[in-house]
Amino acid sequence: MLKILNLFLLLVFFLPGYSKILKRPIPDKLVVLTFDDAPESQYTIVAPILKEFGFGATFFVCEFPPNYRDSTKYLNWRQIQALDRMGFEIANHTKSHVGASHLSEAGFEEQLTYIEKKCDSLGIPKTSSFAFPGYDWSPAVIEKLAKEHYDFARAGGNKAYDPETDHPLFVPSWAMTDKNKDQITAAFQEAHDGKIVVITIHGVPDLEHPWVNTAPALFREHMQYLADHHYQVISLRDLNKYIHIKKAQKILFPEFRKRMEKK
Ligand SMILES: [Zn+2]
Repeated sequence: MLKILNLFLLLVFFLPGYSKILKRPIPDKLVVLTFDDAPESQYTIVAPILKEFGFGATFFVCEFPPNYRDSTKYLNWRQIQALDRMGFEIANHTKSHVGASHLSEAGFEEQLTYIEKKCDSLGIPKTSSFAFPGYDWSPAVIEKLAKEHYDFARAGGNKAYDPETDHPLFVPSWAMTDKNKDQITAAFQEAHDGKIVVITIHGVPDLEHPWVNTAPALFREHMQYLADHHYQVISLRDLNKYIHIKKAQKILFPEFRKRMEKK
């Protein structure tokens, strides 16, 4: 009798919750790689290494203000288009890498749609992922992203992403640099029991922003580690396979709202 009751409770409480957010169980060793700020090395160095290992990734592109020091150190749109053709996700990091919380709704929309239009003109699919420039965010920005039908927005926070508790428009990540090899290797160990590890990476190398630099040799070492330990490495967009994103946005909103109010 107790067994039947347990089974009943399992069906009532576990299965509906499960099916609401997850389409299928999150496998262990699932890692999402995200690259920010469009430094040129993401095309010349990162993409070939990712292809060599058969890894997916998301590239959060922006333009910065025109001729930001030396524009040749950044991806041009032909290279961004090539990354799309190679199967990588091209995603939105605003036109000029502006702190989103400081903008009016119209100002933010302009920043967002500039990248969308640029993608459209080059046959790149409409961006469905966003990364907060400088990790700067506000409740209004998240609401706007939801309204504009964005699936994911990536933040910082140094913790694993649990799709059943973390809102898809506030996905936590760890930032890889030259200085935190051990922290990143430890982060990879968190990818189990429904949790996904999301990594933020800048230039490999990053000539314009040395404080977020990752040397190519160290990047390759991390990728080799993931391959040797049989990790699955994908883009944020690829998480569609596992998550009912719109349902997750709705279901997780009340909890998220509480966090927003604390901010
Ligand atoms: Zn950035």
